[in-house]
Amino acid sequence: MNFNEYQLSIELVPQTSWYTNLRNMMSRENWDKVRKAAYWEHGYRCAVCGVTGVQLYCHELWEYDDENHVQSLKGFTAICPLCHHVKHIGLAGILASEGKLDLNAVVEHFMYVNDCSRVDFEQHRHVAFSVWESRSRHPWTVDLGEYAALVEDSGDSSVDRRFNWVVQKRIQTLKDDMKP
Ligand SMILES: [Zn+2]
Ligand SMILES: [Zn+2]
Repeated sequence: MNFNEYQLSIELVPQTSWYTNLRNMMSRENWDKVRKAAYWEHGYRCAVCGVTGVQLYCHELWEYDDENHVQSLKGFTAICPLCHHVKHIGLAGILASEGKLDLNAVVEHFMYVNDCSRVDFEQHRHVAFSVWESRSRHPWTVDLGEYAALVEDSGDSSVDRRFNWVVQKRIQTLKDDMKP
């Protein structure tokens, strides 16, 4: 199966991206607006697997221009915990190693949603990490597009300070992103 044909796919943000996460860049009020709109827009179902009655997560949708190394925010979606763990499979691995997550349940959810085998999952993960490694060789510019207005301190020009901060906070912000 082709990488992009899976209904539920892995999405890894390059290590060298300026992106932290929008939840931390926005006021609580704006973030609540964004996430509630995403939940409502998808009828309070997971936009990927359709499950209802579970806590949903607001997940950012990015597009990558591999020529100019620009990462553009295309919007937000509402997804269930298992789909979100597939999207952030790197963090899921960290949580599993800390005994906080059953990684097998995440892999089985991928297989169930995509109607595929474990070998298909392993191949998809391999490709996703290859893409992530190659994208992590370059610095990325983040284009928030129409969402830039929602971010309060987007005028911060101290790029070096920010980059150091991003590296240090990466795992923590990914963990925050997993919160409802
Ligand atoms: Zn789901
Ligand atoms: Zn997410």
